Amino acid sequence: MGFMKKVTKQSRELRKVAGKKIDSVTDKSKKIIRNTKIKKNVAELSKNVGKFADKTFDLAKDKSNDLINEAKIQINVNENVTEVKEIYEEIGTSVYDAYKKGEKVNDAFLKECKMIEEITKEIIEMEVKELYLKNLRKCDNCNEIISIEDKFCVSCGTQQKPLKIEEAK
Ligand SMILES: [Zn+2]
Repeated sequence: MGFMKKVTKQSRELRKVAGKKIDSVTDKSKKIIRNTKIKKNVAELSKNVGKFADKTFDLAKDKSNDLINEAKIQINVNENVTEVKEIYEEIGTSVYDAYKKGEKVNDAFLKECKMIEEITKEIIEMEVKELYLKNLRKCDNCNEIISIEDKFCVSCGTQQKPLKIEEAK
């Protein structure tokens, strides 16, 4: 092995070791910060009950800890519930996307996909009506909002087809 190669290898190894040390120091300092925060919270909560006798105080301190832990657990649970909901939504979206593309969708989801399709159509129709009431429309091509009098889109220049608005029942 050439001298320079050796030096490079050694310095790389040194850096690796240093990196690990820094990581463990960071972890330790994180833990200390966390513990300090918990202690501070306990101290604040304990202030309210601190007027009691020492024995009661110790018990109250434990109780404060329970409260903090309970709150922490609650936050974790809520975060996880939200995360699961988001994943459910992603699953649903991918199923509906497949349905829209005409791909085979599990029969169990067909009814729901058709429902989403219907509701989406209604939403679009309502948006068209809402714009129409303000003498506006969306460009057939680029979706830019333009005046209903515009024969061509002011943004992309596409000629506009006549608007079909269903009469309100
Ligand atoms: Zn346009």
